[in-house]
Amino acid sequence: MRCPFCHYLDTKVLDSRPTEDGQAIRRRRECLECHRRFTSYERVEEIPVWVVKKDGRREAFDRAKILRGLLTACEKRPISLEALEEAVDRVERNVRDATSGEIATRSIGELVMQELRELDEVAYVRFASVYRQFTDLEGFRQELERMIHAHRSQD
Ligand SMILES: [Zn+2]
Repeated sequence: MRCPFCHYLDTKVLDSRPTEDGQAIRRRRECLECHRRFTSYERVEEIPVWVVKKDGRREAFDRAKILRGLLTACEKRPISLEALEEAVDRVERNVRDATSGEIATRSIGELVMQELRELDEVAYVRFASVYRQFTDLEGFRQELERMIHAHRSQD
């Protein structure tokens, strides 16, 4: 690593330890030329996941966007932000596990719906009605019927 002071290329590592959050390794280095000391950090590079939209355009996966969708669907519902954050964690984990760097918008929508179905039926219906509006009306109707029947058999 190049010395930031004299730009010499060789340094020796004096000390190497993980940062408090465990997300990086901090190294204390000394320049072999000017002997000044500096710190470098080594981090895991986050591999971006690309979301492929219906028209074929790609955008980077954004967990904030998933959370916003959940918050909208859950407006005025008795669901804690913590529960929503956990749902987003599960969606993100699934997205990262299931793909080789790309995932269709549709697949993410399905993952979000799975989470909402567990959390709150009203929120689930809200999300599903917006999400599936023009793509899969028949599937949505069947899903509603399934829920209605599930309620009846509980009574
Ligand atoms: Zn130097």
